[in-house]
Amino acid sequence: MVVLSPLLAQYKYGLKVTSWAEYQSTVKINPKKELIDLEKHIPSLVLDIRYATANNFTGEKIYNLAKAFARRPVADALKQAQQELKSQGLGLKVFDAYRPYKATVKFYEVYGDTTYVASPYRGSRHNRGCAVDITLIDLKTGKELRMPTPYDSFQKAAWPSTPAKDAEIGKNRSLLIATMKKYGFRVNSSEWWHFDFIGWKNYEVLDIDFEQLVK
Ligand SMILES: [Zn+2]
Repeated sequence: MVVLSPLLAQYKYGLKVTSWAEYQSTVKINPKKELIDLEKHIPSLVLDIRYATANNFTGEKIYNLAKAFARRPVADALKQAQQELKSQGLGLKVFDAYRPYKATVKFYEVYGDTTYVASPYRGSRHNRGCAVDITLIDLKTGKELRMPTPYDSFQKAAWPSTPAKDAEIGKNRSLLIATMKKYGFRVNSSEWWHFDFIGWKNYEVLDIDFEQLVK
């Protein structure tokens, strides 16, 4: 995974982070907290997990596996959004979903600013299994619909409040935001691709590797 040791990542910024053992006992009590494999759960969902490649802003491969997980209610809501889009010949592509806390620490240490990366003192909603980075695709061709910027573009054009360059881009962005809103997600104010699941506060910050989840 990342260079940072898990122990250091968890204690360096004084945040309470849930381990694998704690996660397992929590899921037994509350099955909603289970991290669900999105590819298995949602028919025709497309993954392009950038952090499993060097094609991301860190220039490094962060994840060993190209997987996407989210807590059960998040996965169910995303499934509904996908179903609705299907009737328009569209679908969702996931760039990132649940993210282990140690990766958030790494991003902060690379970028050094919390405008576009989460503060390690609070953790990211991705760390809670309650955020997804997504875009729209044409289901037939698999091609991404035109959006204001590429994924993880740290510029003002990525802000949902920035006027779109043309009508088609504006329409695509609005459709994504409106569909996600309908199923309980809110778009991030500086990233058109990032959606938080409302209710994320009820889910702990986790530092579990994908390898543990696919076992
Ligand atoms: Zn995000």
